[in-house]
Amino acid sequence: MKKLIEGIKNFQQGPFPAKRLLFEQLAEGQNPLALFITCSDSRIDPNLLTDSEPGELFVLRNGGHIVPPYGAANGGEAATIEQAVKLLGIRDIIVCGHSHCAAMAARLAPESLAEYPAIRDWLRYAEDTRGIVPKDYGHVSQDVDDLTIAVESNVLLQLAQLRTHPSVAAAIERNELELHGWVYQFETGRVFAYDFARARFELADATIK
Ligand SMILES: [Zn+2]
Repeated sequence: MKKLIEGIKNFQQGPFPAKRLLFEQLAEGQNPLALFITCSDSRIDPNLLTDSEPGELFVLRNGGHIVPPYGAANGGEAATIEQAVKLLGIRDIIVCGHSHCAAMAARLAPESLAEYPAIRDWLRYAEDTRGIVPKDYGHVSQDVDDLTIAVESNVLLQLAQLRTHPSVAAAIERNELELHGWVYQFETGRVFAYDFARARFELADATIK
């Protein structure tokens, strides 16, 4: 904890005064650019990897960046999504998986979760990805490892489950919301984005239009 407490002091003496105006403006309200749904994994920093500022990303995080189908779970996910879409009028939602995801590795080896009933129950919402999104999943070649397949297919599954939320479905229907599937490779800094037309993940900077 000592490092974190000292970190607060450092923040108040350096980064905060440098951005005082921004923080004062944020007291008036927020108008984030996107809802960013990602894993709790400490190696992901949404603001850092998108070079964005406080106030620009509305963030939802949990182990495995899971969005249970609407009505299936009593967690805070549905409320957070509703707040983002209906209350804040966010027009883009990014579901961002990542390399070396322990949740996805556990999904591939369910026997490793015998002593972790809460994790096992939660990962039910990330099961059977191939069965649920087969038509979106024709791009995986034989040389891709199982964990990468699990990470990519889980992003697609969570996007599908996101669409079951009424606020999301209605906003998409009105052409007021776009969904994006990303995979962040933290060891290289690269981000892959799912190209829905080509049904495959491509380097995100190549898909910017
Ligand atoms: Zn993870």
